[in-house]
Amino acid sequence: MCMIRTVVCAWGLLLVLAMESGCAGLTPAVPGVVVKRTQLHMGTLVSVTAVALTPEDANRAITAGFMEIKRLEQLLSTWIPTSEVSRVNASAGVMPIRVSPDTFTVVQRAMQVAEMTGGGFNIAIGPAVDAWSVTEAQRIPAVSELEILRPVVDLQAVHVDESGRTIYLEKAGMRIDVGGIGKGYAADQAVTAMQKAGAAAGVVALSGDIKTFGRLPGGRKFPVGIQHPRKEGEVFASIDLEDEAISTAGDYERFFEREGVRYHHILDPRTLQPARTCQSVTVIAKEGVLADGLDTGIFVMGPERGMELVEQLPDVEAIIVGHDGRVLLSSGLKTRMRFPSISEAKGDAQ
Ligand code: ADP
Ligand code: MG
Repeated sequence: MCMIRTVVCAWGLLLVLAMESGCAGLTPAVPGVVVKRTQLHMGTLVSVTAVALTPEDANRAITAGFMEIKRLEQLLSTWIPTSEVSRVNASAGVMPIRVSPDTFTVVQRAMQVAEMTGGGFNIAIGPAVDAWSVTEAQRIPAVSELEILRPVVDLQAVHVDESGRTIYLEKAGMRIDVGGIGKGYAADQAVTAMQKAGAAAGVVALSGDIKTFGRLPGGRKFPVGIQHPRKEGEVFASIDLEDEAISTAGDYERFFEREGVRYHHILDPRTLQPARTCQSVTVIAKEGVLADGLDTGIFVMGPERGMELVEQLPDVEAIIVGHDGRVLLSSGLKTRMRFPSISEAKGDAQ
C-alpha cells in the first residue's frame, strides 16, 4: 500500500487526500498511472491528481487543470485589480459591467445559494470582510463601523442581467466577494479541462474544495479525509467519492483569537460578526460550485437549519460540527462515513 497524504491548504486547515494506489496493488483489469502535482493558486495550495494510461497523458491533463484554474483566478480574484470581479466592484453605483460566461455563472450560482440558505450566503459581504481583514490586520472593527457598512451589504442591490450578461452593484461602496464559492467552481472547470485533455480519472483540490472524477486504477473510489476542526493535521472522518465534490468551511481556516474569543473569516450577514454556531461544515454534492457555496451558507445557518436544508436537496449530503463539537450527519452519509476516532470529535455522530 502506498499512502500519499497531502495537506492541501495553507493556514493549517486541510482536507487530506489519502490515496492508496499508483504504487502497488494496481488491478491489471483497470490499468493506469497516478500522477499528482501541487502549485500555489487563488491564494492557496492546489493539488491536481490525474489517472491516465501513461505519465505523459496524466501530466498533460494536470497542466490543463492548472491552466484553467489560473485563467479563472484572473477573472474572479479581488486581489487582482484588473479581474472582472474587481471591475464590477470598481463600477459600483456607476454602471453595469459585462462579464465573461464564467464570472456570470459564478455570480448567478452565488445568488441561487443565497436564496437557498435564506441569505446566509451573501457575496455582497465584501466590505465587511475587508473591515475584519482576518488574515492581515487581525483587528476587531467597532460595531458602529460595521453598522455604517450594513446598507452596502445588500444582496437586493446586486443586479444580474442575463440578456446582456452584466452585473451591476447599485450602491456606491458595494463590493462582491466570491471567495466562498469560486474555488468550488474552479475545481469543476479544472476537472472538465482534465477530461478534455484525456484523463480517465482524477482529483482537483483547492485547499478544502475538492472535486473527484472516475476511480483509481484498480477500481477504488477516491478516499478523502475531513479535517478535525480542533486538532490541526488530524482527520476525524473519511469517505470514498466518485464523480462528487466535497467542500469544507471551518472556523479554523483563517482566524485570530483575542481574550479567548475566536474571530474567523466566515461572517454572518445579519450581524456582520463571525458566524458562531459551527466549527466546520462539509458538503458533498455533484458540483463543486454548489458544495462550496453551501458550506459557507450552511455555516452561517447553523447545524439544525443547515441540516434541514441539506435533507431537502437532492444529491447533497453534509457533515456539520457544531460549536460544541457535536457531529451531525445527513441521512445519506450514515453508512458511508468512516470515523477512525469518533470520540475525538467530541461527540457522537447522529
Ligand atoms: P475558503 O475555502 O477560502 O476558506 P469558504 O468557502 O470557507 O472559503 O468561504 C469563506 C470566504 O467566503 C471568506 O474568506 C469570505 O471571502 C467569504 N465569505 C465570508 N462570509 C461569507 C458569507 N456569509 N457569504 C458568502 N461569502 C462569505
Ligand atoms: Mg464555501
